[in-house]
Amino acid sequence: MSNTRQYPIRCPKCGHEQSVTLYDSINIKDDPQLKQHLLANKLNAVQCPQCAFSFVVDKPLLYHDPERRIMIYLLPTRDPTNVAAAEKQFRDVLDSLRHLTPEIGATLEIHLVLSRSELVERIFLLEAQLDPRIIEYIKYLIYTRNLKKLEPREKILLFDAQDSDRENLCFVVQDAHSRRLEGILHYSRSAYAALDEMFLKAESGTKRLYELFPGLYVSARALLMDEGKKDSIAGNDAPQPT
Ligand SMILES: [Zn+2]
Repeated sequence: MSNTRQYPIRCPKCGHEQSVTLYDSINIKDDPQLKQHLLANKLNAVQCPQCAFSFVVDKPLLYHDPERRIMIYLLPTRDPTNVAAAEKQFRDVLDSLRHLTPEIGATLEIHLVLSRSELVERIFLLEAQLDPRIIEYIKYLIYTRNLKKLEPREKILLFDAQDSDRENLCFVVQDAHSRRLEGILHYSRSAYAALDEMFLKAESGTKRLYELFPGLYVSARALLMDEGKKDSIAGNDAPQPT
């Protein structure tokens, strides 16, 4: 079931305040059109009755696809370095959801994302049955091999399902400030398969992958922006694909 609530929303242009019904959670089995609204950036969109300005309200949202067993929680966070606060808030959400759905935490993982573009990325990634930690590990490799061109504070790497094909996984480079898309990078699926073999097929590899991304928020960019963690990874001698 999808859930809505009333929120007092102020127009960012003229300041007019109105009460608006917004989605707290969407279940795309019950309401498949809501997924289309989300992908078209029309979910939780508001039009001001006074000045006709249209805008999308950036608020927390639980995305649930019961058939694919996908659950993702969007917690919009402007400062990606303040992951600890977001994770704490997410933990509280998980506790409240566990009362309603006991399988959460036991057999069902809820993914945490901090922006709408990460939410869309994560939906496509999970639908393609790719592992988010391996995808973030690949991003980690791409960032560290191109540090001059891809400074994690300045550039965001996003997995691009639409342009990926049988041979290659595709990533787009987005400018962190202008949000403009600036380029496309490819990573071969056979290299992904080698990482999958190394990390997920062996228990020690899986443990290592979870050591690299121990938090609830799995992000190579956040990891690289946190210098302390970066040093500890270098010390761990992060495994490379063979
Ligand atoms: Zn207005």
